[in-house]
Amino acid sequence: MNQQYEDAIVRRVAAMTQRVDEGKKANLYYYNQPITELNGGAKVLVNGREMGMYASYSYLGLIGHPRINTAAKAAVDRFGTGTHGVRSLAGSLVIHRELEETISTFKRAEAAVTYSSGYVTNLTVVSTLLGREDYVISDKLNHASIVDGCMMSGAKFMRFRHNDMESLEIRLKQIPAGAAKLVIVDAVFSMDGDIIDLPTVVKLCKKYNAWLMVDEAHSVGVLGKTGRGIEEHFGLEGSVDLKMGTLSKTIPSIGGYVAGKKDVIEFLRHASRGYIFSAALPPAQTAAANEAFKVILDEPWRIAKLETNSRQFIQGLKSRGFDTLLTETAIVPVLCGQDEVAFAVTRDSQKAGVFVLPVVSPAVPVGLARLRATVTAAHEAEDIEFAMDVIENAGKESGLIPR
Ligand code: PMP
Repeated sequence: MNQQYEDAIVRRVAAMTQRVDEGKKANLYYYNQPITELNGGAKVLVNGREMGMYASYSYLGLIGHPRINTAAKAAVDRFGTGTHGVRSLAGSLVIHRELEETISTFKRAEAAVTYSSGYVTNLTVVSTLLGREDYVISDKLNHASIVDGCMMSGAKFMRFRHNDMESLEIRLKQIPAGAAKLVIVDAVFSMDGDIIDLPTVVKLCKKYNAWLMVDEAHSVGVLGKTGRGIEEHFGLEGSVDLKMGTLSKTIPSIGGYVAGKKDVIEFLRHASRGYIFSAALPPAQTAAANEAFKVILDEPWRIAKLETNSRQFIQGLKSRGFDTLLTETAIVPVLCGQDEVAFAVTRDSQKAGVFVLPVVSPAVPVGLARLRATVTAAHEAEDIEFAMDVIENAGKESGLIPR
């Protein structure tokens, strides 16, 4: 388009271009860096340099696991690389059903349905279940895909203060009796690493007759003795109506799912637009995900190691003077405040061989920029100690912590 005048789109594009260009000019732009080698997941090769990887979602270190790779390759040999379109028509393969059975067994639910990503899952599930007359109540720090799903549904959208059960109850009380209501929360919050107070959320949902959906993107493989997630963590099996998750983090594939009661899942299979209007997951990714759930159960040492590593990382950073907010999991925020501080700590950490990344607004509120560091089961204690020393030096250099 030949742009004759400056409209809102032009201004939006220009503002982002300027933000990115300024970052690049100042050598403070760290996004979209291509990784050339994974080296087992604990280390990565970026721009020809090997660095310790502290920005991975592969919490159990399953990327590249031989059993998972073998399953993916066998699926390519059997089915090729694509499907014939949407699941409802010719896109369903036996391995899609196998994966959904594996997920429902793993999540101790009656049934499960898969979608092409976690993002799509939240969009389509929330917007299919709810309509204009209904109510949805969302934690203020819920993931963007949940917020987008709530908006798309057209339901009356209410938010409650982060993990604040009084605030949730106030919202529940505001809803007229008889109206359909869905409470939706992250199990582990993606930027803060803290855990939702599930026991109280469940109690309140029962008291006010609300449906409960939990996003388990960062709790599967992380919480619970066998890695099954938030219900297992609190010993509250069967308390969540809709257990949503992604196949792109602990599970080293792509896709999303929701598990729950059979009739609700069958409803979604026939009514959710993300299922009926979008192509099926490719065979390799389907088989990889299926095998990954089995590996988690066969190799429980990974969950124990992740917990040990998380504890070491959180306690070590705290004792070095950093504010890691309320994290209890493998997601460890290192609060920096202003964007420039987060960029400077990132620059110095990466220079010294530690791959961490800054998270700034709009992913987190202005003034709460941070490193969003993660630890995985692939790390060894001495690697973590080294990474923390590097982050400590970077923090001192930028004045974030005292020298
Ligand atoms: N929910 C949460 C809590 C997430 O962190 C993410 C990914 N960042 C998603 C959903 C979306 O999952 P996916 O990357 O599979 O689209």
